[in-house]
Amino acid sequence: ASIEAGVDKIRLNASNIKDQAMLREVARTAKSASVPIRVGANLGSMNPDLTRSERAQALAEEALREARLLEEADFHDIVVSVKSSDVREMVEAVRIVAGCSDYPLHLGVTEAGPLRQSLVKSSAGIGSLLLDGIGDTIRYSISGDPALEVDAAWMLLAGLDLRRHGAQIVSCPTCGRCEVPDILSLVAQLEERLGEIVKPVTVALMGCVVNGVGEGKAADVGIACGRDQGVLFVRGEPVRNIEPSAFIDTLIAEANKL
Ligand code: SF4
Repeated sequence: ASIEAGVDKIRLNASNIKDQAMLREVARTAKSASVPIRVGANLGSMNPDLTRSERAQALAEEALREARLLEEADFHDIVVSVKSSDVREMVEAVRIVAGCSDYPLHLGVTEAGPLRQSLVKSSAGIGSLLLDGIGDTIRYSISGDPALEVDAAWMLLAGLDLRRHGAQIVSCPTCGRCEVPDILSLVAQLEERLGEIVKPVTVALMGCVVNGVGEGKAADVGIACGRDQGVLFVRGEPVRNIEPSAFIDTLIAEANKL
């Protein structure tokens, strides 16, 4: 029914379909609609008494067994996922699958918890694999607003320079040199306003004039903030001075011009 409803991909536990004729029928329907099928395994089906490496191996073997069932049903448009809430286990299992098959791989740390915990665990697991060229689709699992999962995925891809979508911010952590007391609230304002921009730009907001231009030069445009004036810079080159009240509006206007 989901294929007929026009979904882009389905997730299937092929081994749960004991009737071979039924599995072949699902495979035939997906094939005729050019809908890929994702198969896989996750931690829930593993024996908890195994060591982490043993579980990773078992996860990988289970996922590959699922893929073979589909191939035996003459279906080859297969995506494989091996998921665990244990980051190391997930990474290890995915590396095993990647090392012995050419299937596209879907990456995710499953049941990764609430926002902050999931961001750290998912980014560590998914990010380390993507940096090694492993992985084709990704999913952040967050106990929270699903829209945050999409935002987090885009941010990771942008942070790894794999895909660009919307604005990136370069902002300093502040230090004793910081010349503006409200730099953190300025960064928050900038982040909110940059949400309107979908083109890939990098915008810097730095806390002092002395080091801000140099430290923010990786950005397309930025302001090194001073107590009375800031310095607008474009790709590391100072352009003109800006009044503090115009910092954010100026950055948005300049980002839109790029
Ligand atoms: S840009 Fe200036 S205020 Fe920000 S961390 Fe660097 S030296 Fe400190």
